[in-house]
Amino acid sequence: MLSPQISIIDLDFLSFPGVIAVYLIELPHATVLVETGPASTIPQLTAQLADHGLKPTDISDVFITHIHLDHAGAVGWLAQKGATIHVHPNGAPHLVNPEKLLQSAKRIYGEQMDFLWGTFLPVPAAQIHSTQHQEVIRIDGAEFQVFDTPGHADHHNCILYDGILFSGDIGGIRIGQSRHIELPTPPPEFNPVKWHSSIALIKSIRPAILAPTHFGTYNDVPFHLANLDKNLSELEDWLSRVMREQLPLSDFTHSLKDWLDKKGRNHCDPALQPYFEILNPSWMSAAGLYRYWNKTHQI
Ligand SMILES: [Zn+2]
Repeated sequence: MLSPQISIIDLDFLSFPGVIAVYLIELPHATVLVETGPASTIPQLTAQLADHGLKPTDISDVFITHIHLDHAGAVGWLAQKGATIHVHPNGAPHLVNPEKLLQSAKRIYGEQMDFLWGTFLPVPAAQIHSTQHQEVIRIDGAEFQVFDTPGHADHHNCILYDGILFSGDIGGIRIGQSRHIELPTPPPEFNPVKWHSSIALIKSIRPAILAPTHFGTYNDVPFHLANLDKNLSELEDWLSRVMREQLPLSDFTHSLKDWLDKKGRNHCDPALQPYFEILNPSWMSAAGLYRYWNKTHQI
């Protein structure tokens, strides 16, 4: 528990603890979630809400940082239970009509799709609140401020509440209180220029605590953001070096995995090491980097 009001719900994704978080904020007359996790972990979410004496119908508001299925897969189900969904305007249409979102996820995950992510339900338009950059949303007297933070996806928000910045994926992946911070760079919207700007914006907000969805809370915010920025620059340097070799995607993917292992994963607690490849599969980040490079370096 972060404070009497705020708790971390660990969804135990694929029976791995400490990889996907939902944040629960209990106000006197409202109950707020930041993120929902995938639809496949609805039973875990329901059980942990029950541990807090809550039913799914008690959730009044849900903020999602973005619509990727590990962050927002249960959003339609929570809407069915009555929650209002606060989402970036670029993400909102995909919640109402998720066909395109699900098709592109299916292209990536194939037969694994249902097992990994479960069934994504659409959200009725009337239950969606499309956020504005820097908008302050008041719920039961509490203030939540939303920041447009592209770079990982063009529909990514960070949410600030009581000095805690829920940083989704733009704040990187950091697990088990290790010092290794990794950047998930999936297709199609990874953009390092936008990502650097979003890090600068987060620095200017000066949150006391960062709470990435993957996973937990960190109060060494200046260290975290400086390293995130440095890792992004090093990733860009690596990308421009490797792309000169004109490798096919499969070889490029192997190179990325080797580089990520050497850069940080191999220096973490051995028990944590497999988690990085679950949270940030090198084939997915490689596809995003490869696509970004080819899009921006067409002659
Ligand atoms: Zn994501």
